[in-house]
Parts: sequence; structure tokens; C-alpha cells
Amino acid sequence: MRQIAIASGKGGVGKTSLAASFASFAKAVFADCDVDASNLPIIFKPEIIKKENFYGMDVASVDENKCIKCMECYNACRFDAITEEIEIMEEKCEGCGVCEYVCPVDAIEMVQRESGEVYVSKSRFGWIVHAELKAGEETSGKLVSVVRQKAMEVAKENGHDLIIIDSSAGIGCPVIASITGVNLVIIVVEPTMAAIHDMKRIMDVANHFKVPYVVCINKYDLNEEKAEEIEDFCKENGIEIVGKIPYNKAFTEAIVNGKSIAEYDENLAEIMKKIWENVERKIEES
Ligand code: SF4
Ligand code: SF4
Repeated sequence: MRQIAIASGKGGVGKTSLAASFASFAKAVFADCDVDASNLPIIFKPEIIKKENFYGMDVASVDENKCIKCMECYNACRFDAITEEIEIMEEKCEGCGVCEYVCPVDAIEMVQRESGEVYVSKSRFGWIVHAELKAGEETSGKLVSVVRQKAMEVAKENGHDLIIIDSSAGIGCPVIASITGVNLVIIVVEPTMAAIHDMKRIMDVANHFKVPYVVCINKYDLNEEKAEEIEDFCKENGIEIVGKIPYNKAFTEAIVNGKSIAEYDENLAEIMKKIWENVERKIEES
């Protein structure tokens, strides 16, 4: 099974547009691992076929009938997640289990917290696995792993050998969960100081996990000097640039209209196709 992840140092740099445009050229299962800002479904307009609950961190639960109000748990909780009335504030509970440990009468147990849902869906581009977190829940590497695992199952069941992952943005745990073990990461970068800095941080993460990567410069013409800086850096470090995408408001219009850029604009479709061909060649090589 081949897997490609599309990543970026922060959200909003065109990662999802690139992922969605690949859908027009690649026969793949898509995994939307950007669970905080899940945008692929806006373009894919998927029909949900299967839905499963996602359980994140465990949360403490108090049995009022057993509790003798000794306040041990209240004093022990370092996250101030227990009120003076010995009620658990789930949004604050970090699931550490200390309260369960200190309770003298076993009135506390750790229970699973339903944190969101994972969907297996069908779309005009084929299968997509995506997820939704409940309000207030934090993105977790665990949810990303569940989405990737489901995508793997769907790919196997339906005879696909390629998974395209729209990764979480940044360099935290969900990103690590998005890119580990993939055949190639495409790092999308814009020509700004901050984005170049973020790009290098993702490269550090990818290097650490020994994941090969290439770069795609988005909106390169907004600052050609910085774009050149990225190109020079990549050249010096032997990193391939698979494409340079010009700024065009059609990218936003396409998303607003629920279309991939490859469906929306013929000229841009050509650019995206070329990028896909470069990516495909790169995976073949690896
Ligand atoms: S599990 Fe940890 S964070 Fe949650 S209420 Fe108990 S002590 Fe506090
Ligand atoms: S430690 Fe146990 S008995 Fe004491 S207040 Fe907490 S839940 Fe109640």
C-alpha cells in the first residue's frame, strides 16, 4: 500500500486544494486527517456510508452513592477538574487517573469519553475517510491514526493501493501521526518568512521519522524573491520541488463552489496535473 501525505507548517496555505486536485487524476482512497479544519468534505460532498464513534482520552466518573466526600480527589487533581461538590468537569479532565488512585472507597472509575465520529464515505472521487471532533475536543494523534487505519481497510476492501492523506497542519502530535510511515510527504509552502520557517520545522520532523519529502510552492508569484530563496534552499539540500502554483483567486472560488481546482479552472488543472505526475514519478522511484 502506498501512502502520500500533504502537509504544511500551518493551515490555509493550499494543502487541501492540492489534495482535492489530485482526486481528479489519482485512483486513491482519501484520508482527511486535518480533523481540526476538515475541508476535503466541502469539496468531495461525500455520502456517509458508515459512521463510528471515536473515543479519545478516558475521563473520570464519580459514583455518588459510594462517595464519602473526603476531598482526597479534589486535592489531588492537578488540573482543577473536580469541583468542591465532587463533580468532574469533563472539559478539564486530562484522564490521568490520579483521582481514581487516591479515592479510598473506589468511588471513581475512568470511563471512555466519546470525542467525535469517524466516517467512511463515498464521493464522485471515490472513497474518503474523514472525522469530526465534538466541540471543545482537541485534535489527537489517536484520531488521525484511526482515520488512517480506516482508510487502509477501505483501500484493501476496494482494491486500491494508494492512500492520499490531507495531513493535520503544524508539527505536533497529529502531524506526526499523519506522516509517519508514508512513502512521500508533499510539503506545501508559501513564499513568506514564517512559512519558510515552518517548512523547515516539518522537514526536521520528517527527517527524524525518516520519511522522504518534496516541496510544492503555492502562490509563488506573490513574493518571487522568497520563492527563489525556497528553491535555493531545496537545491542546496537535494530536495525536489514538484511544482510552483501561481496565486489565483479561483482556488477560493472553487472551494466555495464545492469543486476541486482541477474541475473549476482548465489552466490551473494543467498545472495541478503536472504536479501530480511529478509526485507519481517520485513515488515510483521510491
Ligand atoms: S483523571 Fe486526573 S485530571 Fe481527571 S479528574 Fe481525575 S485527577 Fe483530575
Ligand atoms: S476521593 Fe473518592 S470518596 Fe473522596 S471525595 Fe473523591 S470520590 Fe469521594
